[in-house]
Amino acid sequence: MILSETQFIIVTGGVTSSLGKGIISASLAKLLQSRGYSATIQKLDPYINIDPGTLNPYEHGECYVTEDGAETDLDLGHYERFLDRYTSQANNVTTGRIYQSVIDKERKGDYLGKTVQIVPHITDEIKRRIKLLGRQDYDFVITEIGGTIGDIESLPFIEAVRQLRWENEQRFVVIHLTFVPYLAAAKEHKTKPTQNSVKKMLENGVQPDILVLRTERPLSPEVKKKVANFCNVKLESVIEAQDAKTIYQVPLLMYKERLDEVVLQKLNLPLRDVKGLEEWNTKVEKILNPTNTTTIAIVGKYVELPDAYKSINEALIHAGAVHDAKIIIKYIHSERLEKGNIEEMLDDVNGILVAPGFGHRGIEGKIEAVRYAREKNIPFFGVCLGMQVAVIEFARNVLDYHDAHSTEMHPATPYPVIDLMNEQKTVTTLGGTMRLGSYQCRLKKKSKACKAFNGEEIINERHRHRYEFNNQYLEEFITNGMIPTGHNPESGLVEIMEIPALKWFVGVQFHPEYKSTLMNPHPLFQAFVGATLEK
Ligand code: GLN
Repeated sequence: MILSETQFIIVTGGVTSSLGKGIISASLAKLLQSRGYSATIQKLDPYINIDPGTLNPYEHGECYVTEDGAETDLDLGHYERFLDRYTSQANNVTTGRIYQSVIDKERKGDYLGKTVQIVPHITDEIKRRIKLLGRQDYDFVITEIGGTIGDIESLPFIEAVRQLRWENEQRFVVIHLTFVPYLAAAKEHKTKPTQNSVKKMLENGVQPDILVLRTERPLSPEVKKKVANFCNVKLESVIEAQDAKTIYQVPLLMYKERLDEVVLQKLNLPLRDVKGLEEWNTKVEKILNPTNTTTIAIVGKYVELPDAYKSINEALIHAGAVHDAKIIIKYIHSERLEKGNIEEMLDDVNGILVAPGFGHRGIEGKIEAVRYAREKNIPFFGVCLGMQVAVIEFARNVLDYHDAHSTEMHPATPYPVIDLMNEQKTVTTLGGTMRLGSYQCRLKKKSKACKAFNGEEIINERHRHRYEFNNQYLEEFITNGMIPTGHNPESGLVEIMEIPALKWFVGVQFHPEYKSTLMNPHPLFQAFVGATLEK
């Protein structure tokens, strides 16, 4: 930290959802970071779930897991991928969690007989959560408020922002992100939705300092002037955010638009020199203009919504940039995959990744995909459930245990090659009770995994599972050619399974995708993509 006091930046969104507040926040943080300031980002989600851990991925996409084992919003993944800094539980707070702490305090009698109310008790708790991060030595805390202005759920958050700004005016900036639609029939951009959205903010007592306008086409100076006039912001504080070809371009676009400069000016802070953006730019160039191409199948049951596999998609892109390769992702719905059509669905891919997941739906298709990869010697990467499925496939088709399964899908299987972890057997509730967060893994020398990590033998990876490889079957697997190449030194849990005789066949119980960043792509994703490119 170089400033004597933490500065707070709030990012809100208007007009529609899905405008990319997370990417704008991450891009701003990246620019501040490249100017030598330390920055972190926090997401406040207005829903009642305590965290997204119990949410179906169809609701909000992937659940992202942090080092400390918090199950969080996928935007935290973007924060880490852009900043190369870990986030934690404190970086994602939901309405549910806010209410839970207030109600817990009420039950303890902490409110001394007072009526507990949204204002001040809920808003105080929101403010406490925002300021809490500031105590961890950051120059900037950027707080992204989920949802869209005008939602009933976001009102307490906006009220908390109003109070915080009133209390800390010198150190506070509010950025409002909106959408400016282009009406082809009228041949012009329309600013009314933005004006209305800012009016809504004003009704709640918050005047945005900076407006970021998402647009599909370049905005004319007149449109920006109009927005500035009607929304009481300076012209230079109207920032254009045109659609980018890759999210990693956005920090560079925001640099050109001077978003970071405007923020620093508003806070009367020095414009320190920018460092490291050239390296970032080189990576972006590699993503935009690659020389090679490789096609990778992602086999999963949520493929209609690629956000369900966000971190995997991004980790593949990071690895592609290393190999100067465009990654064509072919999403394969595991429910539609069967023996009869597998050839047709997978014969044009260079690698197969079987995705994480829960429950029975689509499991047989995943098993078929593994079989295809194993029999055709196509590079295979199994992630979490993907590793478990590889184990089941091997048990069924190599060891000849026809009914082998995971007890998650088939509790009475005679061959429970994947079984509930001991410590899970007494767990009765769903939220936050899996094996979560970072655990050590010891790698077997000379394995594909160890090679990927350049010979390193101890690594740390993040987890989110209840089931594990059943060590009772270990000897049979080893004798027949599928071997554990990574295990947890304390518990002995198998963390990695490989078939060394094949070109590249690796299944991991952990989630390597969470730790991949653009500047530090994950070694296993690099090795997998590398194997798919080998002739
Ligand atoms: N359903 C499996 C388990 O709980 C795998 C979980 C996952 O893929 N994240 O062990």
